[in-house]
Amino acid sequence: MSDVGLAYIDGAWCAPAGGAVFEVREPATGGLLGTVVDCGPAEASAAVDAAARALPGWRALPAHLRADRLRAVAAALTRRADEIAEMMTREQGKPLAEARAEVLSGADHMLWSAEETRRLYGETVPASTPSSRIWLLPEPVGVVAAITPWNFPLSMVTRKIGPALAAGCTVVLKPSELTPYSALAVAQACAEADLPAGVVNIVPTTRPAELTGVLMAAPEVRKVSFTGSTRVGRLLIAASAADVKRMSVELGGHAPVLVFADADLEKAAAGVARAKFYNAGQACTSPNRIFVHASVAGEFTRLLAARAAELPVGNGLAARTRIGPLINEAAVTKVATHVADAVDRGARVLTGGDRPDGDGYTGGTFHTPTVLAGVTDEMLVSTDETFGPVAPVLTFDSDDEALARANDTSYGLASYLWSRDLSRVIRSAEALRFGMVSVNGGTFAPPQGPFGGVKGSGYGREGGHHGVEHYLDYKYLAVELD
Ligand code: NAD
Repeated sequence: MSDVGLAYIDGAWCAPAGGAVFEVREPATGGLLGTVVDCGPAEASAAVDAAARALPGWRALPAHLRADRLRAVAAALTRRADEIAEMMTREQGKPLAEARAEVLSGADHMLWSAEETRRLYGETVPASTPSSRIWLLPEPVGVVAAITPWNFPLSMVTRKIGPALAAGCTVVLKPSELTPYSALAVAQACAEADLPAGVVNIVPTTRPAELTGVLMAAPEVRKVSFTGSTRVGRLLIAASAADVKRMSVELGGHAPVLVFADADLEKAAAGVARAKFYNAGQACTSPNRIFVHASVAGEFTRLLAARAAELPVGNGLAARTRIGPLINEAAVTKVATHVADAVDRGARVLTGGDRPDGDGYTGGTFHTPTVLAGVTDEMLVSTDETFGPVAPVLTFDSDDEALARANDTSYGLASYLWSRDLSRVIRSAEALRFGMVSVNGGTFAPPQGPFGGVKGSGYGREGGHHGVEHYLDYKYLAVELD
């Protein structure tokens, strides 16, 4: 990739005056992927102006025509899935098959949103007197500012743009500075889909606080949708107070897994390995505390370690790779610190626990898939998001104890349980204070599911009809007849 990646503002590809650019590096090799324009306050303002100008036309477009445009974006993403996936693998590191699945999932979110566009019904509410009427009219909240992370650099973009556009909003999106190309691929799809100018604007930057400061201050921006760390989420929630903007925040997680003694251990080990090592553990839903009943802990841990040990680590472009590099050196250092802390406090490394060496790893930021046994609640792996390929196994003796320890976290995004006892499944699922509970391998990815958390993992939902609701205001129309 040699061309400079440009910002997409008001339906045009553009560069800031002054020509500032920043480098994007490939985590698998450390090599230069390309350079992207570095937007600042002027571009942020131009993008907000463009979105505000585009709003009246877009919200007035009949729903089926808005749906057509969203379907065209999905078609453009699908048509170019292989090309975008290869770029995403080089930019973010994930294995090619995962990158391709992410592009298709992004397209699926656009299609779901297209369908929802035609189902934005209002309500008629029974009134209190014969001569009065009450109607609720759904209306788009207005211009949306969207801020996305690097770990799912395309699907996080479509999860915001899809429902916002369905609702009739226009968008200014600021992608992660680590993965701007994946977001710009969505801009390209919007251009190919003939989306009207200004409906979607994408502004890459290395100065996120400065740029989002402009978005937070702009009175035209009525809603902010953020996915990223709890630390930054708090900053944006605080900043939203001044202008009373609506917020949706999808933040960090620290997912517990409960493996009960009656679980199918083979299936549980395969399912936990799949959830844990997807995207090399760089997911907000990644299992971080795997609580296993003491009577089956030895057998389960052996099965899990065997699965982890057979996952090939390497450049995501190689067909056999299952674990790509972590996003950067800081991420590997964090993983190594967490593993060292656990070992210092008595945990045992059953597999992995180090950086792979050899020719294929030169310049890259790799870490082996790791399973730790003998983990306790106060270790760093149990309290802090590791965001890497580390599966810490803890043991428990009773259901109540397991549930209490699983809930003992400030986070509340994803949780998982494995059991064949229906009553235990239902009681446990009801007791878990998390936004999402996976039972025996259920997944959270489909667009019809309302993805999101509680407590320190944020509020708002993405996906399902609930997701579109977050981009709508309901106008209360009170009518008195003659
Ligand atoms: P991050 O919070 O560092 O960055 C997220 C976005 O915020 C990026 O676009 C970044 O440029 C921007 N940002 C950084 N500092 C900012 C500031 N001071 N003001 C305004 N914007 C700022 O998070 P990350 O490292 O990109 O992503 C990993 C985090 O995201 C993890 O905590 C993970 O759990 C979370 N995450 C949550 C979900 C979810 O749906 N709940 C999904 C994916 C990732």
